[in-house]
Amino acid sequence: MDSNSYCMSVCLQVIEAKEAEQRLLESQLQVSKTEKDLKHEEMLRAREEVLSNFAELMETELQCSICSELFVRVTLKTYLMICNISFVWLLP
Ligand SMILES: [Zn+2]
Repeated sequence: MDSNSYCMSVCLQVIEAKEAEQRLLESQLQVSKTEKDLKHEEMLRAREEVLSNFAELMETELQCSICSELFVRVTLKTYLMICNISFVWLLP
């Protein structure tokens, strides 16, 4: 084996090693990507939970104290609410 072809085979080995390293990095990148997706999903879920808690709060806030029915908005343009059963106005 002359020095030139020896160098060639070393170079090829280096290239192969580098390629293997790159494949490993790529697969690790893929993993961290899915971890990121999971974190994102978790965040979305937490936000949904906050929103649903808020909706529950709104519901209890908008309940008639006499019959505990939910107040209904009189028109869509105003925030006037009334209980359809005991006819109590909910003042804004
Ligand atoms: Zn009522």
